[in-house]
Order: sequence, then structure tokens, then C-alpha cells
Amino acid sequence: MSRTPFDNLVSAYRQAVIAHPKLRAVTLAQWMLESGRGTSKLATLHNNFGGLKWRPEMAAYATKVFYEAHDGGDYYCRFASPEAYIRGYWAFLERAPYRGWKSHTATPETFIRFIGPIYTPSGTYADKVLALLDEAGDLLAAQVAPTPAPVTPDVDLGVIVLDPGHGGAANVSGSSWNNATSASGVKEKALTLLWCQTLKDQIQSQAAAAGEKIKVVLTRTTDVNLTGAARAKKTRENGAKAFVCLHFNGLGDKTVSGAETFYRAPQNGNVNLAADMAFGQALHDALVAGLRQVRPETRDRKLKPDTATGPGALGVLNDAALGNHQPGGRLAVSTYFEVEFITNPAVDAAFISGPNAAANRTTVMASVARAVRAQMRLLP
Ligand SMILES: [Zn+2]
Repeated sequence: MSRTPFDNLVSAYRQAVIAHPKLRAVTLAQWMLESGRGTSKLATLHNNFGGLKWRPEMAAYATKVFYEAHDGGDYYCRFASPEAYIRGYWAFLERAPYRGWKSHTATPETFIRFIGPIYTPSGTYADKVLALLDEAGDLLAAQVAPTPAPVTPDVDLGVIVLDPGHGGAANVSGSSWNNATSASGVKEKALTLLWCQTLKDQIQSQAAAAGEKIKVVLTRTTDVNLTGAARAKKTRENGAKAFVCLHFNGLGDKTVSGAETFYRAPQNGNVNLAADMAFGQALHDALVAGLRQVRPETRDRKLKPDTATGPGALGVLNDAALGNHQPGGRLAVSTYFEVEFITNPAVDAAFISGPNAAANRTTVMASVARAVRAQMRLLP
């Protein structure tokens, strides 16, 4: 029995980390209504289970596709996977028309009675969704079919932690909620998450094809902010060999572009300097090579030490938090990407808002993923 796109959605949603788990069943119920339990063309062709129309704010999650719906042709969102759809749906609600929904989350019913009339202006919409609530709850609770035992892989590359910079709506110790905003208006915090998710996908698919075993942990999988210490701590908690922080740059001068990568400076107490520099250089070179596959003019702003002290320092690269001073702990390596200047319109067009942005992002992250696997092989 082959799995349908809807089966894949339910299974992805069971595992997805979302900010409001209490709303999991009611949102699935909504998607069942919108997609005819996953049978609509938008769902089966484009992983768009919610009938989400295209909006520019969705550029970080979806691509634009023309679709002839029963109520006429229009531009809709196309999602690369059910996982991408789930992230996209919650991002869709962050848009202006739904402002205030977070104060209507006490029960599934309060939630759908608030967003329903905005989503579909019909007096009975919320009732129709609520009628499917029990069925959605049962689907989410159903036993997950055991996956077949994998073929024993040849090499175990260990664990790597990827850290999407920023998140949420408030600054916390060692992490501001957002820094740069792209020329087309996409926030850095959304891009860091999207790019880390792509990097994870690339590492895992390359490793699977090569018979390698590797575990990739993201410090956050939703739009939340974590302190610098909480991010770094995931390395120790997961016994990871490596920690990669991913950010984007922004500047008032929109002509500036290029990739730069940081390691913790020796004067800031780096006890793992040689290893950090080797790891950082390998990943930085792969990042620049990937960016140049898309934009040959990409400027190489080099691997450099983070010499800032105090609040300006990249505290997330703190060796103690990464586990370097743990008794018997691993000397995890760490690096910090500033992928590009998203305030540059040419960079934005290539990697964020243009028609090839998703493919270009995959190209860059595939290049970095190859370097990650090679480095993980070398690390003890
Ligand atoms: Zn940043």
C-alpha cells in the first residue's frame, strides 16, 4: 500500500515541533477540509493542503505556482514537502490579516472561530472544521507504522548541531530576535531556519546515498528565540562533534555583498583553535564555492577570528557551553557563517525572492553538506 501525500502530511505533523501543540488537531482538521482529506490537486501536486494563496511573505517557505481552482485561476504556494507546508502554514498566520490570533489559542474552538472567518469568509467555516476535529485527533494519535530496519551503514559520522540564528519576537541573552531584513522584506530569522533545514536535508540525503550514518540536530525548528547558551548547550547534550551557526548579514549600503565565516578568537579563550580553524576554513571554502556556482562574482570575505568582546562577541561559540571544558567531554569544533548580505538586491533575487531561489539555496547547501561530511569523517 503506497503512502499518499496526506499520509505523509499526517506523519510529518505528528513529529513536527510547533509552538502551539494544542492546535495540532484543529489545524489538521482545517487542512482536511481545505484539501478534501488531501485529495485536492493543490495538495497532491504542490503539498499545499491549506489552499494557501501566494503572498510575497511566503517566499522563504514556498514558490509561486499558477493554479486553476474551482473559484478561478490564481497564484498559490507550492511547497517542496509536507514539512515545508507545515512551516509555511504557521508562517502564513504571522501575516497582517491574522494579527492577534495568538490571543485566541485557549482552545481549538477559540482559535478556529478567530482565524476561520479571515481564512474563508463563510458563516459555517469554523463549524465545518470543528466537525472534523475528532477524526483529525485520531489520525494524529494513530500508531506510526514501524519503518523497516535500515541497512547497516558503513561509517558512523556522529552528530552535528546546526544553529539557525535569531527567532521569535524578543531579544534574549546572547541572541537578538532578528537582525537583517532582505531587500524583498524577508527576515533573517526565517532564512536562517530555512537554510539550516535545507542543509540538514542535504547532509542526510548525501549520507544515505553514501552509506554513512549521521545525526543532524537543529537548535530550533520553529520561530522561537533561544539564548546563546541554550543553543551552544545542544552540542554537549547531543554529544556532537561539531556546531555550525548560520546567519545572514545586512547593511545600509546595499551594494555590499559576500560571505564571511567566524571562529572564536584565541584571546576570547578558544581552547580548540587549530581544529576550529581547519573546520571553519573547509566549510567557508565550500560555502563560497556553492555561492559562486550561482553568482560567480560572489566576494570571499574570508574566515576570520571573532575578536569582539562583551555583548558584541559571538557568545554562541563559547567553548565551555559547547562542552570543551566538560570532564571527559568532547572537543567540539564550531563555526559561524554570515552567508551573504541579504540587503543586496542581487543577492536577494538569487537566493530569496527570485524564481530560482529554492534551487540556488539547495546548490549552496549541497556544497556545504559535502564539506560537513568530509570534516565529520576526519573529526575524532
Ligand atoms: Zn544574524
